[in-house]
Amino acid sequence: MKIEAQCDTCRRTFLLSQIGPDSDAPGRCPFCGARFARHYSTVLVDAVAQAEGSAAAFVATLGRLQAMETGFDLDIEGLLRTIGEQVRAQDTHASTA
Ligand SMILES: [Zn+2]
Repeated sequence: MKIEAQCDTCRRTFLLSQIGPDSDAPGRCPFCGARFARHYSTVLVDAVAQAEGSAAAFVATLGRLQAMETGFDLDIEGLLRTIGEQVRAQDTHASTA
């Protein structure tokens, strides 16, 4: 699943896959060339690929559940809200934007 992010330097929006291991400039802003996560550059490139892969796997798993005619409805709105809260709670780089 494509995940968007915004560069702190140029404020342009890009996809995490554009800075992943298969990109032209792994770990760098595709627009201004700013180096992301300077102190973690090797793990960053793997982590962005992992984040997109995990998000896709998560959606596919829920899709399998939905296809089973389980007799219950997933609370997708609640799920998205909880995911948003938990992801934001881990953001120590609190954005004011
Ligand atoms: Zn940039």
